Amino acid sequence: MAEIIRLEDIGKVYGQGESAVEALRGVSLSIEEGEFVAIMGASGSGKSTLMNILGCLDRPSRGQYHLVGRDVASMDANDLAEIRNHLLGFVFQSFNLLARTSAVENVELPMLYSGVPTRERRERAIEALTRVGLGNRLHHHPNQLSGGQQQRVAIARALVSKPSVIMADEPTGALDSHTSVEIMALFQELVATGITVVLVTHESDIANYATRVLVVKDGRILSDGRQVAAIASLEGAKK
Ligand code: ADP
Ligand code: MG
Repeated sequence: MAEIIRLEDIGKVYGQGESAVEALRGVSLSIEEGEFVAIMGASGSGKSTLMNILGCLDRPSRGQYHLVGRDVASMDANDLAEIRNHLLGFVFQSFNLLARTSAVENVELPMLYSGVPTRERRERAIEALTRVGLGNRLHHHPNQLSGGQQQRVAIARALVSKPSVIMADEPTGALDSHTSVEIMALFQELVATGITVVLVTHESDIANYATRVLVVKDGRILSDGRQVAAIASLEGAKK
């Protein structure tokens, strides 16, 4: 499998002088296509900072980041926007859906900016929602959907631009344990189709569904291990 992400000695400092916070202290890491990586660690350990750098949402203070072989530091704003829109998909703890907008319209949104024609937008949004099991909820608004369904809409929105990598920061953080397992089952399905998933969580129960677990502590990688992933079957989910 090809390497898709390579970090070399990445550091990140927020602020300056007395108030400077060293959020990452030399992170080196290689991720291959098709891996399902869980990044674990206590609150404040640097998980989101690492995720934001991986997602090209923030720049490191030092070190090198190569994404699909390209040096991220050398990219201009257009290159970065292109990467974020086409190579990466994002999923967040709080779903980040537009409230007064239907599921299908939420999923269409990313394509508005990339100039996809109206009809194709609708077709692709329906396809993505069907893929996450919401083909029968196209016109529901977020407040008419459960938390798990809202997160599925957000995953469909991430999928609609056909990303190679999905970055998810605490995607089950707002969900009960049964629904969390459903969402992990969905991520496992995506990985089975060749998508690389990098997921942040502070729960080891959730990290068990990944094929690789990185533990971050005080801005450093404490451990990095591959494992046989638990199967996120719904029967096994705790009610
Ligand atoms: P985690 O996601 O593991 O909880 P973060 O990456 O959010 O951790 O934070 C790592 C450290 O960096 C923490 O000490 C946090 O307070 C600090 N930090 C995060 N974001 C900022 C910021 N924008 N400005 C200053 N400090 C920050
Ligand atoms: Mg965080």
